[in-house]
Amino acid sequence: PDILAYIRNEFEISEISYGMWISPLKPHHLLQNSDGNIQLFVEIPEENDNLPNAGFQTFVSGRYAGIIEAAVEAVTGLSCRLAFYSAKEEQSAGNRTKPVSQQILSNAKLDPRYTFDTFVVGKNNNLAHAASLAVAENPGESYNPLFIYGGVGLGKTHLMQSIAHFVLQHNPSAKVQYVTSESFTNELIEAIRSKNNFTTTEFRDKYRYIDVLLIDDIQFIIGKDRTQEEFFHTFNALHGAKKQIIISSDKPPKELATLEDRLRSRFEWGLTVDIQPPDYETRMAILRKREELDHINVDNEVIQYIASNVRSNIRELEGSLTKIVAFGKLNHMEVNLELAQNVLRDIIDPNVKQEITPQFIIQVVAEHYGISELDLVGTKRTKELATARQVAMYLCREMTEVSLQQIGAHFGGKDHTTVLYAIKKISTEVEDNPDTSGTVTVLKKKISAQ
Ligand code: ADP
Ligand code: MG
Repeated sequence: PDILAYIRNEFEISEISYGMWISPLKPHHLLQNSDGNIQLFVEIPEENDNLPNAGFQTFVSGRYAGIIEAAVEAVTGLSCRLAFYSAKEEQSAGNRTKPVSQQILSNAKLDPRYTFDTFVVGKNNNLAHAASLAVAENPGESYNPLFIYGGVGLGKTHLMQSIAHFVLQHNPSAKVQYVTSESFTNELIEAIRSKNNFTTTEFRDKYRYIDVLLIDDIQFIIGKDRTQEEFFHTFNALHGAKKQIIISSDKPPKELATLEDRLRSRFEWGLTVDIQPPDYETRMAILRKREELDHINVDNEVIQYIASNVRSNIRELEGSLTKIVAFGKLNHMEVNLELAQNVLRDIIDPNVKQEITPQFIIQVVAEHYGISELDLVGTKRTKELATARQVAMYLCREMTEVSLQQIGAHFGGKDHTTVLYAIKKISTEVEDNPDTSGTVTVLKKKISAQ
């Protein structure tokens, strides 16, 4: 109770958020580590329609774990890490679906680590994740093909292989095949070169009698006419037989220049979903997941440093954590912020720091309040939006050299008196209201750290 009171008093959390995210958490048990630090396990509420467990946990661990940990530390004087306990998981641990055998995985060319369990869901990928689950549950019957696109290292391969895993877990005899479009091309070339009808037939059979085909990085078949031709026939054979096809690419079908139109249109038959770069909260959640999976425990400060500086590529994000931990271990050094800064010096170049622009401030503020950028610069006047908007204008004034008029222009063409009013209002609040000054400090940190 002291801890809850502390959270309510010291942090600016709206009544609604508090009721929704903090008060449902029930402390379950404590573990004390050998170094005297404690691990606090909280029980997450029963799953219901509005509240799938995984999403709840991700959200809380991304947004509130730091606050809760700080509160525990302030009240008890013990350094604390938050962990999650789920009664349901505990129960089902005994009869959980069996892992898929190594042999089956390697035949299907799947990486054992890429499953839904290890995939963190955030705002950047929740649609792609939901679509993938739907496909995994009913292969061939929901979205066919499922086309997933997004930049390098954002989780396309991980997500598509999760589908394959899920299918095999529930039906080990399903014929599942993962292939990159490059391997597909190479196998085809090999089959053609051998000038042996048998091999070509074998190639066709391999890809046409399959229940779930995953073809990764389809962009590499562009410009390869013979491969496109072969893939076109494979696609038709599978799709006609209601077999599931999952395709990934770095761009949506429309932007795949010189892809044959007949293939492009087929790619659009099903559902196309994208994966965007993760926001700060999701980056934190991914790093925490990594810690959990690798059984490591890293200072919160270090995690936050990585999450605010490595932003566009999840492979690099995870790689940074691994690198820091390995470096500390090899050199028998404590893993702290200083070490992290040293190790990541070559990745995080201080000279290419994000320039602070109104555009960027708007992005960070919107992300912080969990609202869309459009709403933030729009005209809707709910209390939360109005406050966020005024704070954003204030920060534009404080952190950039842009004029009042120009700031107004960034907020949907508001005139300079409106902007001035907002700035004055927030300036006064920063003086008088510790909640506002806290928020502004956090936001300034987020903006200048990035
Ligand atoms: P892509 O295929 O889009 O280039 P990958 O699927 O290879 O990206 O992902 C790169 C790395 O990041 C992998 O190690 C993967 O496990 C990890 N990763 C990506 N997205 C997530 C996520 N949402 N949750 C956990 N790990 C992720
Ligand atoms: Mg990939």
